Amino acid sequence: MVTKGLKLRIYPNKQQRRQLAQNFGCVRFVWNQMLAMLNERHENNPKASFLTAYALNHLLPLLKKEHPFLKDAESTSLQVTNQHLIEAFHAFFRKEKGHPKFKAKHAFKQSYTSKFVKGNIQPVGDHGIRLPKLGILRFKTGQRIPETIKQVTLSRTPTGKYFAVLTVEGENQTFPKTGKTIGYDLGIKDLLVGSDVQRQGTCRHDKLLAHKLRVWQRTLARRQRRAKKAIAWDYHQKVPVPRTLADFKNVAKARLQVALIHEKIANQRAYKLHKLTTQLVKTYDRIALENLKTKNLLRNHTLARAIANQAWGELRRQLIYKSAWYGKELKLVNPYKTSQLCSTCGHDDGKKALAIREWTCPQCGTHHDRDVNAAINIKQLAFGR
Ligand SMILES: [Zn+2]
Repeated sequence: MVTKGLKLRIYPNKQQRRQLAQNFGCVRFVWNQMLAMLNERHENNPKASFLTAYALNHLLPLLKKEHPFLKDAESTSLQVTNQHLIEAFHAFFRKEKGHPKFKAKHAFKQSYTSKFVKGNIQPVGDHGIRLPKLGILRFKTGQRIPETIKQVTLSRTPTGKYFAVLTVEGENQTFPKTGKTIGYDLGIKDLLVGSDVQRQGTCRHDKLLAHKLRVWQRTLARRQRRAKKAIAWDYHQKVPVPRTLADFKNVAKARLQVALIHEKIANQRAYKLHKLTTQLVKTYDRIALENLKTKNLLRNHTLARAIANQAWGELRRQLIYKSAWYGKELKLVNPYKTSQLCSTCGHDDGKKALAIREWTCPQCGTHHDRDVNAAINIKQLAFGR
């Protein structure tokens, strides 16, 4: 049995939308309260042992008494928030992620997760699912929902779409063995450079969309500037009811356009990456991948680098779980010296500046493409010659 995510677009009614918005607010509130408490605790006593999610859960009844609106929230979602907060701190301690941040009211994505407890999450008919507090929600997909649902994450995108991601248990399915092995070096222009000389994927997003995005971002900035000026003028003129940013429909429209384009870019990128990782796991029995240095991942010097980092992280995540699902082997390799060792004879040719894309080994005379040579080294380090 393996755990899988099943994503459904859901269509909540007006009342359910209101309840969802309330619950998004509640988990954000709990996250911020608990984070503030943990920060304060650390300031007062830096040596105090770090709390567990279980300990935070014990504080929930107190918090509910103090802030009665929390009683309306789906109760397991508040526990899951504590769990996510503690996990975020552990990732920070392992130097994999930055320090957990406070969540702003207009966060990019609003969501909460409910755990399965005593049949509170159940499929209803072919196009419905019963969720705690919300009742039955409609969805359109023809996918059959398995009976065992471990948890559900409900979210609203900035463009007003609602999704439910179900964590379900399913039968393990394996891809037939092919006897093929490959090594991959991570690149910025091409996502992957293979030991077979093939380059796969690209980190850059669609140029047309990138252009559209820039245009709308500029429009949004201009409209916001003008709206702020108009608001300031109202105050200056002592208008009885001064306008607020919400009164400027053209600002809201531009903001929606920016969010829609962001969403489209993200969807395209996710679709391409999923297609690529599935194809790789289908084609090869053994895959060696350059391991990411988390320290480098946190450093985003340029936009290209930031986009590449994001794609690498997601690529690695997908390859790890897909190779486990489909019965293939993935090895992560420390890329130390892989770009300076000759993959043919093992000669160490010393450090090479990034600008050097090709070189010839002085010992055996092999002419190398820098990235392909690195990919071959990665493959050999993982699985031998
Ligand atoms: Zn050589």
